[in-house]
Amino acid sequence: MSDTILIVEDERRIARLLQIELESEGYGVRLAPDGVEGWAEYKAGGIALILLDVMLPGISGIDLLQRIRAVDANTPVIMLTAKSALSDKVTGLDLGANDYMTKPFEMEELLARIRAALRKAAGQVTGDQQPGQWMTASDLRLNESTREVERAGQSITLTQREFDLLAYLLRNKKLVLSRDQLLAEVWGYDYAGNTNVVDVYIRYVRKKIDEGYDTELIHTVRGIGYCIKDAT
Ligand code: CA
Repeated sequence: MSDTILIVEDERRIARLLQIELESEGYGVRLAPDGVEGWAEYKAGGIALILLDVMLPGISGIDLLQRIRAVDANTPVIMLTAKSALSDKVTGLDLGANDYMTKPFEMEELLARIRAALRKAAGQVTGDQQPGQWMTASDLRLNESTREVERAGQSITLTQREFDLLAYLLRNKKLVLSRDQLLAEVWGYDYAGNTNVVDVYIRYVRKKIDEGYDTELIHTVRGIGYCIKDAT
């Protein structure tokens, strides 16, 4: 059965172009010209992935993303943004978007990212980890099945991306991971340039799991990347 992609985009020309390309790739497509209809289409169900324009009339793409993420952590959302400022991208990512594309974008690249996001979502449903399995670094522990994180017995709330990043660090405890590797594994594609998004997210995660505790668990390896270790 083909996956259905919801396109929320007010620019008809772009929406049509996306629809034609996606349908020729075998995806089902539903179109919504604004956030209100986008929400209605989403609520109607059966959506495997959402392409979400940021600048929409009525409810903005960011608002719609928040609304969706409040009820659904899993359906992949790729933001389409005309803005190139990192802050807009980070806002979207921090609110739980899986990826973003800056307009104008290459169709091949978008298709690759759609495939990566769908693969990743399918993997999350199947689950590689045994239920109830905790990964630890000292007094920090994370459960990929229940998506719980605790440090020193205190529950910590992470966004989806922060969680995925921390989980990947923990799966590779003691190994030094490069920014490129983290981008490819956590963001799910080979990302050209702007690897500072990794630094931004490491900062977010540190704020939540390291700041205010006796020992830091995430270490910066100068010139290479990051590593999580048990406190010594
Ligand atoms: Ca728009």
